[in-house]
Amino acid sequence: MSQDFNDPNIKDPRPSSPVVPVRLGLDDKIQFRCRPGIACFNKCCQNINIMLTPYDILRLKNRLNVTSAEFLENYATSFEMDAHGMPGIRMKTKPGSSECQFLTPEGCGVYEDRPAACRYYALGATTMRAKESPTPEDFYFVVKEDHCLGHFEPRALTVREYRQEQGIEPYDEFTKEWRDIILKKRSSGPTVGAPSQKSMDLFYLASYDLDNFRVFIASPFFHDVYDIEPAYFQKLLTDEVELLQFAARYLKQVLYGEKFISEKPDAIEKRKKRREEISAKQREQMRKDMEKEIDAPE
Ligand code: SF4
Ligand code: SF4
Repeated sequence: MSQDFNDPNIKDPRPSSPVVPVRLGLDDKIQFRCRPGIACFNKCCQNINIMLTPYDILRLKNRLNVTSAEFLENYATSFEMDAHGMPGIRMKTKPGSSECQFLTPEGCGVYEDRPAACRYYALGATTMRAKESPTPEDFYFVVKEDHCLGHFEPRALTVREYRQEQGIEPYDEFTKEWRDIILKKRSSGPTVGAPSQKSMDLFYLASYDLDNFRVFIASPFFHDVYDIEPAYFQKLLTDEVELLQFAARYLKQVLYGEKFISEKPDAIEKRKKRREEISAKQREQMRKDMEKEIDAPE
């Protein structure tokens, strides 16, 4: 199972691609059924390469009752999504194996919270923006791997019905703005240039490390700059899905200058003042440390 086939920018390394090259819309039909008891049960989870979205991480970290940082540390690995080093996250496999860490003999151990890639399989999805079109378009395709017998089951259903059955809709809806960011970065090409390391760190924090992003927006730095209505701010602190969507809008503002969040009129002066205060404190600390070193007996 590999979500990378969903991404036309990442080439399938295998000699023959399992992607059926037919572009499908929501009302096109596919023939497929996966069910317990099928002879290939669990085969698709034994050789995985699954890229996780921010909403996947949110669901899994809550399922496992860990923080986002703990999830990233223990259940995921990071990789570079493009030549500029834009960070992506992949699911870890079992040690020394390509099998999913959540696979049990009875099937998926996190089934209700499995990632979007697992829900989509054996469909792939991608979003593309045609040159003449201002809006990106979603389309789908079948991924037919030799081991998967679900394609021979006598059941036809539309892509729309399959998406509903697999509970894909919230997964796509809550990561729509985040996907826009990635698409925009790709389609802007080299004209925009490489984002700074600070932008990449911010992208990682706001996309994947949601618990620490919450701490960040509660910091005085954030409040010096952004003007957020108190009731909405409280919602951000308590509603993780809302926070996730806010994080994507915040990234669009910081990375692409799209204005979603009001900035305070004196934001720049306040930020400068706070930086100066921090530098002064750091200089004072350095001076004290040096004095201690000088006073210390040989
Ligand atoms: S999360 Fe579940 S469905 Fe997805 S690869 Fe792992 S075991 Fe399979
Ligand atoms: S039918 Fe396909 S998706 Fe279902 S268990 Fe078999 S290999 Fe996996």
